[in-house]
Amino acid sequence: SNDKYMMSSSIYESLFDTSPIAYLIFCSDGKIKRANNTACSLFGYSKTEMQLYQHDTIFNNSDNLFSSWVQQQKDSGQFNGLINGKGKNGNTFPLQISSHSFIDEVGESLMNVTLQTLPDRFQDSISLHDTKDDNGALIANALDNITDGFYIVDKNWTILFWNKAAEKMLLRKREDLIGKNLWEEFPGFLFLKNNQKFEILTKENKSIHFSEYSPIYKMWADITAYATKTTFSFYFKDLTEVINLRALEKLERNVLEMNAKTDSILAQTLKYYLQELQELHPGMICSILQLKGNRLYNWSSPDLSSNYCKAIDGLEIGDNMGSCGTAAFLNEKVIVSDIETDHRWTNFKELARSEGVKACWSFPILDSLNQVMGTFAIYYKKIKKPSREEENTLERAKNLLMIILENKIAAEAVKYSNQSYWMVAKATNDAIWDWDVSTNEVIRTGNGLQVLFGYTMEDFASNNESWDKKIHQDDFPRVAQKRDEILKNRSQLYWEDEYRFRKNDGQYAFVYDKAYIIRDEFGNATRLIGASRDISDRKENEVLLKELNSRLKQRADELTASNVELERFAYIASHDMQEPLRMVTSFLQLFKKKYENQIDKTAEEYIHYAMDGAERMKKLIMDLLEYSRVGSNKDDFSQINTNELLLEVVNVFIDKIQETNAKIEIDTLPNIVANRTQLFQLFQNLIGNAVKYHSEGDIHIQIKGEEKEAHYLFTVSDNGIGIKPVFFEKIFILFQRLHHKNEYSGTGIGLAICKKIIDRHHGKIWVDSEPGKGSSFYFTISKNIDYTS
Ligand code: ADP
Repeated sequence: SNDKYMMSSSIYESLFDTSPIAYLIFCSDGKIKRANNTACSLFGYSKTEMQLYQHDTIFNNSDNLFSSWVQQQKDSGQFNGLINGKGKNGNTFPLQISSHSFIDEVGESLMNVTLQTLPDRFQDSISLHDTKDDNGALIANALDNITDGFYIVDKNWTILFWNKAAEKMLLRKREDLIGKNLWEEFPGFLFLKNNQKFEILTKENKSIHFSEYSPIYKMWADITAYATKTTFSFYFKDLTEVINLRALEKLERNVLEMNAKTDSILAQTLKYYLQELQELHPGMICSILQLKGNRLYNWSSPDLSSNYCKAIDGLEIGDNMGSCGTAAFLNEKVIVSDIETDHRWTNFKELARSEGVKACWSFPILDSLNQVMGTFAIYYKKIKKPSREEENTLERAKNLLMIILENKIAAEAVKYSNQSYWMVAKATNDAIWDWDVSTNEVIRTGNGLQVLFGYTMEDFASNNESWDKKIHQDDFPRVAQKRDEILKNRSQLYWEDEYRFRKNDGQYAFVYDKAYIIRDEFGNATRLIGASRDISDRKENEVLLKELNSRLKQRADELTASNVELERFAYIASHDMQEPLRMVTSFLQLFKKKYENQIDKTAEEYIHYAMDGAERMKKLIMDLLEYSRVGSNKDDFSQINTNELLLEVVNVFIDKIQETNAKIEIDTLPNIVANRTQLFQLFQNLIGNAVKYHSEGDIHIQIKGEEKEAHYLFTVSDNGIGIKPVFFEKIFILFQRLHHKNEYSGTGIGLAICKKIIDRHHGKIWVDSEPGKGSSFYFTISKNIDYTS
């Protein structure tokens, strides 16, 4: 354009004036600076007239076209589009306008404008696209290149022109449409007739402008229509995206407002949001899942079946876990446009089929720390990729959800914990208190105050002193001091104490008081939440228990003492008595030897009795010594081959066995850990008794042993005289015998020793017997013996 201004002004003037195209130059305030002849005749003004006017005189300034021209010209310095011209006679007519701002050589900012009339002037004879007329071709070309749809029909609604943008938007070719009837080709356009402005166009022949939604084309159109004597021309824009975006923005505002209300319920907000989104995008099914740990749970899926929701509830996230499981796992969007063929759905195809869904796109919803909180998914019942607009919707949804979910989760956590606090206060019998240290204000809740102490809330001023006053005066200084120390100690998070507390009836209760201390960032205690509990019963029990314990301990001490004494006595007695006994025996023997021939039969008999008594006494003493040794013996325990040991024991009785032709049957016995000497003695006593207390006939003794879970069980049975059940326990007591010494010799110590040995091996010993038939002695040896005691 610089070249243009290099030209001589006379050539320029003549080009300007004689051009068949209307030229105008405007000042920056919209005043007309120059107009060429074509421009003047277009509007019907003379040149001088023209120069008196502003742009709003020659253009219809009451419509959108005018304002969008002014706006765009201001914003970008140029414009190409349509505008309505206004002639001197009052007619309005559409014009193709092309305008540029520029600054002339003297520095004035100006705008040059070319105007072309729209084709109504020559439509009567030819259709536009094949016009040979230069002007017509130029205009057709211009109309083709505008991005908005444009078509012209005659008054019978026969299509005369159809531009490229219209071809694209309505998916019909110009060639197929020229000469055809608009309503027949596009029955979906009939909605236009519903608009009341349509009559203004057809009856009053005036231009109209309106926006209308076409349910058939699912599109919002912004339509401007012009009427001439012979034609209507329609100029339309697809506003769907704009309108949808506006609707979406409105929805988002509503959701945010809804969410901001304190009493809003997250589930309801989500449901509303998803349902409205679905409304905006027919066919879309939305679903939000929440991630807890590594599993997804349904948050809101208003249009998925409950079966489907149940099936995916608790879904573990991972690679190939459907769209949502994968999106949450990888923290990236997962677009599955065809579920049937997508490997990420391999394990869920059946489920998808039963729900009838064929596409599923899922986005992770992140919190402000970029952690996945959940997923936002869109399903379709057809194979589908997201459109640019849907991607936009998803992106916005993701951001919106991030805001409302994070806020709401935080709020609900607080609400929940508050609720729990009050519920716990209700459920417990403790007196709950909440002490704001900085204001010294105390809030008391719970039944405890009334139930435990007989006070109502009103009995306490809402400060801490009113409670302190009821603490027993002997306890208070200690309690207060400890509390002060703990509150000052920044590392302490709990305070607890026990004290006596005056109840409403004047009696004192033992109170256990425990509180959690909340501290500020400097560690100062700001708040204590505590529970006071009446532990009077426990205290009483404690005292009783202590008493009982000490009594038990005393008894145990006494017992140990007497046992020790007994053992010591048995030892001393048996040990020390041997010496005088030996004296008695040896002097009796000496006496017998020396006076054998001088004493009579009676004296001899007396000596015999004395000797016998001494002998028995010796036996008694030996047994007693044995008995006392079992207790004090701390010999090692060792692994014992029981069958081997038994052979040795039997050997002791070999003479007796041969003499009586006794039969001793020994099973395979388990090897055990025990004190060998004692085990030897145990078997010796039992087998000895079995041999001793035999009845007439053959002696038959049986020894068995088996392993049990925690011990070994042994049996020594005989076919001897047996024992009456009343004596089953008695025989294990020291010195208890059932027979006179003349019948069966013995001291009554043998089984007592057995019992003591078994005690040492943490076992039990008992007898089962039928008098006249035989006896079975059972004993157990524990597998877990503490060898050190
Ligand atoms: P004693 O030295 O009298 O044998 P024990 O303590 O060994 O003392 O036995 C106590 C009593 O139990 C015996 O006097 C006897 O009456 C009875 N007794 C023990 N073993 C048997 C047995 N195998 N058959 C019958 N009675 C028995």
